[in-house]
Amino acid sequence: MSEHHIVEPDLKFIKDMKRAGGDSMKKCFQCATCSVVCNLTPDDSPFPRKEMIWAQWGQKDRLLSDPDVWLCHQCNDCSEKCPRGARPGDVLGAVRNMSFQHFAFPRFMGTWLSRPAYLPLVLGIPFALLWILIGMYGNWTVPEGELKYSNFLSVAAIEGIYITLFFLAVIALAVGVNRFWKSMVHYHGEKGLMGAPVPNLLSVLPGILAHGRFKECGENKDRYWGHLGIFYGFLGAATTTGIFTVVYYYGLGIHSPYPMSNPVKMLGNISALALLVGALIVTFKRFSGDDKKSSYYDWSLIVLVFGLGLTGWASQFIRLADMRSIAYPNYFLHLLFVFYFFAYLPYSKMAHLAYRTVGMVFARQAQRDLVAKEDIA
Ligand code: SF4
Ligand code: SF4
Repeated sequence: MSEHHIVEPDLKFIKDMKRAGGDSMKKCFQCATCSVVCNLTPDDSPFPRKEMIWAQWGQKDRLLSDPDVWLCHQCNDCSEKCPRGARPGDVLGAVRNMSFQHFAFPRFMGTWLSRPAYLPLVLGIPFALLWILIGMYGNWTVPEGELKYSNFLSVAAIEGIYITLFFLAVIALAVGVNRFWKSMVHYHGEKGLMGAPVPNLLSVLPGILAHGRFKECGENKDRYWGHLGIFYGFLGAATTTGIFTVVYYYGLGIHSPYPMSNPVKMLGNISALALLVGALIVTFKRFSGDDKKSSYYDWSLIVLVFGLGLTGWASQFIRLADMRSIAYPNYFLHLLFVFYFFAYLPYSKMAHLAYRTVGMVFARQAQRDLVAKEDIA
């Protein structure tokens, strides 16, 4: 006697998927062209065809805990070849966006960062907080003498708020990623896992750093450069901030402003340049039609990268040129972008660095990522 399974679609999930960029999924008629075209999918139970039917059926838990979704690098080779215009590459992108919302800690933050309707609240909170802090510990009036941003808002107030935000973001991201891992084990760990997470993490890291999987793209090869610029731009900016705070400020007692010839300062400027060039490539590709679908998550990240890079750069040039009338407003904007970056990192597209790494580690343990070229580097 045959066994019957009752499929109970999560209708709200289907609606959320459409909002997150997966509105074309209904067009799929399961021809499997996409799975044949994809250079990154394994032979056994290949993606993205199976994910398309799960998405249509509203199989939320199975889909959001699917490590295969994180093996996809959204080259959209499959979308170009899909005879129905179902855009499977974008649907998998939407599933990844949904992960930040679904596994978020606390959950309401995932909802806030997923919808433009919450944008006034999301921006209003840091705006009000910074305004109050400046009223308490700073000054909107530029004093005579050398232009210093520490006169605008004290270093202690800035560090108090941003170091706190940093640790809260790390905790929130760790909880979210842990929920994701448990979900993968529950729904996709039935065939067993090879080895422990740490050795597998070490084995996937070189590939992530080299962005090797992006090079497998056929239609959309330039995404490699855009993503590489943003990835190393953020890495360089984080390194710069860490060295200035921990080594210079606390270790050596050397306070800002630092000369342009300072090697760490140079690293910061090069990182900002990499961020901006990366964001320009990504933006150009979105407007040129190579990356046809862009979600609210995509645009939020692009605006954040431009905002951080431009206001950060402008801060130092405004100081050097002694442009006093715009110095503090620009610095306020910069602080606002930095707040957004830290506070909302676990729920925005920035979080995909952590989710993708964890998804790829699981895929390695489940032997899902061993395609034709073993461990594409
Ligand atoms: S997404 Fe397109 S190519 Fe893939 S199975 Fe569906 S119809 Fe076919
Ligand atoms: S977007 Fe690219 S990597 Fe992702 S499923 Fe399609 S072909 Fe594969």
